[in-house]
Amino acid sequence: MTPEEFRRAGHQLIDWIADYRNNLEQRPVRAQIEPGEIRRALPRTPPESPAGAEQLLAELEQVLVPGITQVQHPMHFGWFPSNASLASTLGDIASSGLGCLGISWESCPALTELEEVVCDWLRQLTGLSQNWEGCIQDTASTSCLTALLIARERASDYSESRGGLQAEDKPLIVYTTEEAHSSVIKAALLAGFGRDNLRLVAMDGASRAMSATALARQIEADIAAGSLPCAIVALTGSTGVVAFDPIDQITAIAARHAIWVHVDAAMAGSAMLLPEYRHLWEGVEAADSIAWNPHKWMGTILDCSLFYLRDVQHLVRVMSTNPSYLRSNVDHEVRQYRDWGIPLGRRFRALKIWYHLGIDGIDAIRARLRRDLDNAQWFAQRVSASENWQVLAPVNLQTVCIRHQPDGFEGESLDRHTLAWVNAINQSGAAFMSPAQLDGRWMARVSIGVEATTRAHLEKLWQLIQLHANEVTGESKLPSNS
Ligand SMILES: *Cc1c(COP(=O)(O)O)cnc(C)c1O
Repeated sequence: MTPEEFRRAGHQLIDWIADYRNNLEQRPVRAQIEPGEIRRALPRTPPESPAGAEQLLAELEQVLVPGITQVQHPMHFGWFPSNASLASTLGDIASSGLGCLGISWESCPALTELEEVVCDWLRQLTGLSQNWEGCIQDTASTSCLTALLIARERASDYSESRGGLQAEDKPLIVYTTEEAHSSVIKAALLAGFGRDNLRLVAMDGASRAMSATALARQIEADIAAGSLPCAIVALTGSTGVVAFDPIDQITAIAARHAIWVHVDAAMAGSAMLLPEYRHLWEGVEAADSIAWNPHKWMGTILDCSLFYLRDVQHLVRVMSTNPSYLRSNVDHEVRQYRDWGIPLGRRFRALKIWYHLGIDGIDAIRARLRRDLDNAQWFAQRVSASENWQVLAPVNLQTVCIRHQPDGFEGESLDRHTLAWVNAINQSGAAFMSPAQLDGRWMARVSIGVEATTRAHLEKLWQLIQLHANEVTGESKLPSNS
């Protein structure tokens, strides 16, 4: 493809994307297809001759788009807001078009230095002190794994330079709660701690925040048993009910035993753009690392996850490699982001944030977040004021966990009823929300915050929910646990 051909096909594609975003609301939210349907609609063998840009665009629309669950749809209330603002999409396109290579400062100085700058802008915008330095990772999962790897090396005095964890005589322990995202458990297992050394600390009642008392007690018990407390993954906005662990109490306990504190704020980090919500991570300055995703609620298109640390030297000591072919004579003056994580080659992701802040602007982003927070309170009030309806957890941010419990429904029959009305709505394509378990019982999680979602959409959702919950007979198969 020549640049001239690219120009023509590119204009067409951009026009198509603009129309697609404009007309999103007419599409079903959840992909209305069966497993394997998309695969069967595609050729089994590779194309023998090129199809051309126009045909590909037609197939994109006809074959692939039906297989997309529309998370940019204003009636999407599932999982979490995965906003892909068009401003940041331009940055993503610029990044692709430039086609640069981020393996060292020398391979693309602008990539490194814009990343330094935008990470520092977001540090300031979230009220963190100058003690923090950041980089962009692909996901919060990667940041958590990286944090646990370097925590492991700090606690074991660089076991990687000896026999690794396998040669340590004390087991290293990681602490979090049942509310932790699955990626936290995965990171602990991949970093070699082992499930036996992962502690799910008790939580405080309905808040489902980590109990500081239980944490302190667990740490004492582990020390008494000859183990070495290594890291705490504290949650600023947990996955299930968006619970907030008491970071100030947790960091105070951690300081007594030199335990690493990683703050997982993947979803709720966006709320820290609002000064009035920063009390929710009070004490964060004493943590060791923080991860949050602009690619969720804030709306910088995936993948864009921020990873902040206070002791970058330690990070680099664990992660650095310095092969001869990557050395240059300015190494002492520049940042080498390959030493800040796992991948060597990095994309020019900072452009997405640069475009997002430069076109939408922080005031508009903040106004939208506040709109969503208001909408969540409005919705929760409607639900809790209605007969047989419950809001199951404090609405700390934009997620509302609800259940409909008519007379005579409890235990498994209540589960069947919940799944029946939630699934009926999801299957209809009119709206989408995630069923999830809370203390072993099913509920509906309504996660508000898609860029296009207004109060009118929430009014519509509440109508739909009442309609379906009153209509379904209460029969739905329970999903298996596997
Ligand atoms: C979404 C989420 C994650 C995982 O984020 P990725 O960037 O997809 O890895 C981790 N923790 C919490 C609290 C989340 O909300």
